[in-house]
Amino acid sequence: MQSGKRNRRSDPAGARAAAEEVGQMAVITGKDERLLVGGEWVEASSESRFDVTNPATGEVVGSMPDAGPEDVEAAIDAAAAALDGWKSLPAIERARVLRRSADVIRERKDEIAAVMTAEQGKPLAEAAGEVEYAASFLEWFGGEAERVYGQVVPAVNPQNRVLVLRQPVGVVAAITPWNFPAAMMTRKFGPAMAAGCTSVVKPASATPLTAALVLRAIEDAGAPPGVVNLVTSRSSGMVAETIFGDRRVRKISFTGSTEVGKELIRLSAGQVKRLSLELGGHAPYLIFDDADLEEAVDGLIASKFRNAGQTCVCANRIYVQSGVHDAVVRLLGEKVARMVVGPGDRPGVAIGPLIDERGVDKADQHVQDAIRRGAHLVTGGGRLDDGEYARGSFYAPTVLDGVTPDMLISTEETFGPVAGVSRFETEEEAIRLANDSVYGLCAYFHTRDYARLLRVAEQLEYGIVGANTGIISAANVPFGGVKESGYGREGGAVGVDEYLDVKYVLVAGVGTP
Ligand code: NAP
Repeated sequence: MQSGKRNRRSDPAGARAAAEEVGQMAVITGKDERLLVGGEWVEASSESRFDVTNPATGEVVGSMPDAGPEDVEAAIDAAAAALDGWKSLPAIERARVLRRSADVIRERKDEIAAVMTAEQGKPLAEAAGEVEYAASFLEWFGGEAERVYGQVVPAVNPQNRVLVLRQPVGVVAAITPWNFPAAMMTRKFGPAMAAGCTSVVKPASATPLTAALVLRAIEDAGAPPGVVNLVTSRSSGMVAETIFGDRRVRKISFTGSTEVGKELIRLSAGQVKRLSLELGGHAPYLIFDDADLEEAVDGLIASKFRNAGQTCVCANRIYVQSGVHDAVVRLLGEKVARMVVGPGDRPGVAIGPLIDERGVDKADQHVQDAIRRGAHLVTGGGRLDDGEYARGSFYAPTVLDGVTPDMLISTEETFGPVAGVSRFETEEEAIRLANDSVYGLCAYFHTRDYARLLRVAEQLEYGIVGANTGIISAANVPFGGVKESGYGREGGAVGVDEYLDVKYVLVAGVGTP
């Protein structure tokens, strides 16, 4: 069974065969979408398409055009042609389009969420939450569009004037991941549109249908042709080379793995392209002796198990102080054992499928490696592939105790529903363990000691810190990492800066007033 399911995403014909193997005809729902180029929904010039499958069932849910270099170029042409008109619109007009886009996305929440669950797997309630989150970026940056201010700097020579202008960088390309297929796009479109940039997006090939629906909403909200363009392709390397080789594309914003991020940094050198990189994470989650244990465990579960553990801000190393260690492990084990696993469109499901069999393999590799090296299995700990799970990529929500730094789970992103717990004695030790990572995206801790709260928050080498909470994402905050988690910030008042160039103008000989 396992080999029949493996890498189903890159083998849709195999997915159909696997479904038929177990006596179920794959249901083709026919959610077929197209590329968006200059306001037209078009096929790839080669007319080839690729299938999109449901990770809960292996069924084909729809298909997308498989763009080639000429299609990517056409999308860049369209974005370049739209640039002057869009950037010279009054900011209030761009703001209106952004706010209307948020409204249209909200009106279509149920449809977008259903498609997201079908192609990505997350429970419907989480998908609906993500649609809301995606809309919030467009709304927030609708406000920011009107606040792109310059400066007048006092000149050294009183005869002169010094102006600082903030201007759109130009055509932007966005490359986005499958784990948040709507929000990771609007987190880029929002500030790009606010700044006056036009964009081409290449979404993950696992989740292109959600991307198409979000773009339809933005288009229906009145974005002029070419302001946002969509290319989907299974050849992501080709797309990247075309984008990075085109001098009209001035900036690339990427969310995805650190490995691909590093590749893009190398590509960017060719034309010294501006980059924003939101890459992988390996969040530490510290629970001190004085924490509110219910709150801490609930926060930990929210951080660790949302989206079946497939988020960049997921807790991946859990450190619990000795005095409460046993109580936390017991409580965590009890709560996780009760989590319902199943297809995301079924009521009551908390954990959907992983994105594909490679994801299941990785989670299992981390669990088996930890057990082999001495970790204790508290609950879960295996693939789910019997009965209704047989056609999907499911993994049991798992808690491990006695995790040590030599285990894979302590250094690599698990990207699955696996919580590995370690014990610590002192605050100093906890900080040292937490900072001992090449990643620096997000860290969490729980304490009721206000002085410790400030001390620990200051010492954690991360771009984001959650204190007494496991949920930190929002449109109005600067989201991003340090170290190998990337650079640049998305969201918040600084989010729009990523899409603006700063120009200083010296006007000589004006005279004194
Ligand atoms: P990924 O494999 O790096 O893919 C991300 C995007 O890059 C997809 O659109 C993918 O296209 C494309 N891509 C893959 N190889 C490429 C290449 N050689 N050149 C150019 N583009 C390429 O990451 P993922 O598995 O989709 O997403 C999970 C990762 O994203 C995790 O590491 C997670 O931590 C990170 N993430 C970070 C944040 C953040 O804000 N820091 C947020 C969400 C996720 P295909 O799908 O067609 O391969």
